[in-house]
Amino acid sequence: MEPIKTLGLVIRVAAYREAHQMLTVLTQTHGKIAVSAPGVRSFKNKNHAVGSPYRYGEFVLKVTRDGRYSLMEFTPLAFFDNINKSLHAMQTGMFFLELCEKIAPEEEPMPELLRLTLNALHFLAKTDRDPDAVRLGYEIGVLRLSGVCADLTSCVKCGSREDLVRFRPALGGVTCIRCGGFVLDRAAHSLLLMTDTELQKPLFSFDVPKSTIAATLRYTEGMIHAQLCDDLKQLRALHELFPIL
Ligand SMILES: [Zn+2]
Repeated sequence: MEPIKTLGLVIRVAAYREAHQMLTVLTQTHGKIAVSAPGVRSFKNKNHAVGSPYRYGEFVLKVTRDGRYSLMEFTPLAFFDNINKSLHAMQTGMFFLELCEKIAPEEEPMPELLRLTLNALHFLAKTDRDPDAVRLGYEIGVLRLSGVCADLTSCVKCGSREDLVRFRPALGGVTCIRCGGFVLDRAAHSLLLMTDTELQKPLFSFDVPKSTIAATLRYTEGMIHAQLCDDLKQLRALHELFPIL
């Protein structure tokens, strides 16, 4: 079989026998795949740079007869090492990789998720944006890509379009004051509506008070837990270190 060439981001690394590593890579053309990387833990190996999370670049992969991928060559295009500049940014980045790994389909392309994750890592590592604001942008993007809560303009329980100041994660969206649920303040609702209508661009550049970011994170994380995955260790660690106030 011909080798394949694709762009990809390393989202997990595990040691595997002596100098080998098993990588989990989110690729542009094949979705999430496991890649064995022989010898890369050795400093002398030409592909040594691939052996850490957050590496993005071009992969040349050999496909074995039983359909597994083995690394032939890696050309780095971007590093996000700066993510370790603060504990807050570092822990947020670990959560991004965790969430990305959980929702990425195996062997099925999802280039929008790769683009969104690279954008989020860029803002986290290379700008002064508040990590909580970047996290909110990433979570809104992930929910949108996963098709959770397409409609923010009517109550998911009764269909009313008035007084949408609550939300019910189990039902997957906003609710009116009569149907009840968790509190979603008006500023948080406006922010969600704004990012819903203007697609990618404002996800990482909105300028709102910290309290609105916190209120909106309660919504996005309620939805992620109820609709996508409820076992997110890195998010739990993030909440313990940097509680949402
Ligand atoms: Zn209602």
